[in-house]
Amino acid sequence: MTDISQKQEVRLQGISICPGIGMGRVHKMDLDILIPQDEIDISQVAAELDRYSRAVETARRRLPEHVAAVHGELSIEAQAIFQVHEAILSDESFHTRVRNRIAAEQKRAEFCLDKEAAALVAAFEAMRDPYLKARNEDIRDMADNLLGILSNRDRSLYRPMARGDAIISRHLHSSSVILAQRVGAGGFASESRALSSHAAILLKGFGLPSVGAVSGLLDVAQEGDRIIVEGTRGLVIVRPSLHTEEEYRQQKRGEQVPVFFPEVMPCRTADGIAVSLRANMENPEQIHLMFANGLDGIGLFRTEFMIAQDGRLPSEDEQYEVYQRVIHEAAGRFVIFRTFDIGADKQWGATRGCAGSNPALGIRGIRRHFLDEMGELRSQLRALLRAGGDRQIGILIPLVTTIDDVQRAKCILDEVGGELKSQGQQLAHRIRMGAMIEVPAAAISVQDILKEVDFISLGTNDLLQYFMAADRDNERVVQYNEPTHSAFLWLLEYIMRQASQIGRAADVAVCGEIASDPRMVPHLLRLGYRAFSITPVATQAVREVIAATRTDHGPGSAP
Ligand code: PEP
Ligand code: MG
Repeated sequence: MTDISQKQEVRLQGISICPGIGMGRVHKMDLDILIPQDEIDISQVAAELDRYSRAVETARRRLPEHVAAVHGELSIEAQAIFQVHEAILSDESFHTRVRNRIAAEQKRAEFCLDKEAAALVAAFEAMRDPYLKARNEDIRDMADNLLGILSNRDRSLYRPMARGDAIISRHLHSSSVILAQRVGAGGFASESRALSSHAAILLKGFGLPSVGAVSGLLDVAQEGDRIIVEGTRGLVIVRPSLHTEEEYRQQKRGEQVPVFFPEVMPCRTADGIAVSLRANMENPEQIHLMFANGLDGIGLFRTEFMIAQDGRLPSEDEQYEVYQRVIHEAAGRFVIFRTFDIGADKQWGATRGCAGSNPALGIRGIRRHFLDEMGELRSQLRALLRAGGDRQIGILIPLVTTIDDVQRAKCILDEVGGELKSQGQQLAHRIRMGAMIEVPAAAISVQDILKEVDFISLGTNDLLQYFMAADRDNERVVQYNEPTHSAFLWLLEYIMRQASQIGRAADVAVCGEIASDPRMVPHLLRLGYRAFSITPVATQAVREVIAATRTDHGPGSAP
């Protein structure tokens, strides 16, 4: 057991998320508050009631600071959270229940508040309306805020997150990562093992040195401690000695400044087979990474992260600007835009609450468009067609389940193209249409789907979670989300065999995180996969493993 009172250097081994060295002061994202379980004397009840009332008053007064400290200032998301907290804090019936419990059970305010908050969370949890259901996070946050005040660990009194801080967290939430990026954090370390979560994907996208699966981190590291996040080796050093700090400072100075490759850097296996490497991206600020790593275009542009940044859907014209910029800055390299994949774990601000009572199996990706938001798909396709100009672009449809999904998406693309033409608008006519293979049923029907599209891209993060029936964000079932499992390798082999049988191996790419995983790349190569879209920070490791792998001359060949 680590003695946290010792103010000495502690090294904790985790798993690398994004390479690089981050050094700074600890900023904890989630605090641990001990709930006192003791009973109080009847004579103390009045004082306890008074303590609770004062805490509620303080919480109301400090609400703006609290929301800013925990959720970031000024974002639309923060404003929405502010309103919800305000409503909950003003809910007298809730406070009355807490007070009644203090009086009846003669327990501390923290205990009674925690119990009532849990009951409220459970009530919201049981609601069918997904928007209301999602409010339980806000209730928990409000209760934690009050608990913090009651136990003198008010989060809004904590140092506001500052530039260069290293954020540490128990869970990996994309909102924390976006906040970290917004304030210019220097590193991120988490106890969470959900390494294919969107938060982890974002950390790589932002190039923020980060480490996951760091057991005991929140016990060992205290707010304000110095910390080093050694993303490359997956190591976290809490309260480093002067000697260690100096060593890492020197290493950091020597970190390679990315070189700009004006040309695509070809990539071959040890037995000379060409492999295409493209980049996964979440926003236009990352395009330089495609050049810096000599990658052959953008194999997956996750457009929905435009929403994650400020919680609102961009208009058609705003999207047009972004897509045009991406296409222009990609300077002739092929770009594949994925239409908004919203729902399940990807919900922010205005797009919250659309997923149904079992979100991952409910309304997300293209289903959301077909069922609820056709206008949104149309305006996105309009923006893409307009932005394409005379360049060839790819449009990729997320969460395709049946062939019908693909046919409908194609019809809508045609309709939108027709509309634009009739309005005299210039539009891209060189579109390559793709389907993401993320659902086992789509993987099984891969031949039929391939006949409808120009290419497919294997979204193995989702394909794996649906195949293994194990939530990719749930740390408790992370052991099932294991891509080297023989059943999953069988599925990967099946997909490539089916594509090869109809002569379409060259139209199959992999864009899930397994393509960036040096453990998985040799498997993929031997199964015949020749086109990967990877997280740019993994390029060097992926290139090295490709160069060292001999294949059995599988059926694919680089496009
Ligand atoms: C995937 O599911 O593998 C994928 C690339 O999409 P995302 O991670 O954005 O869901
Ligand atoms: Mg996916």
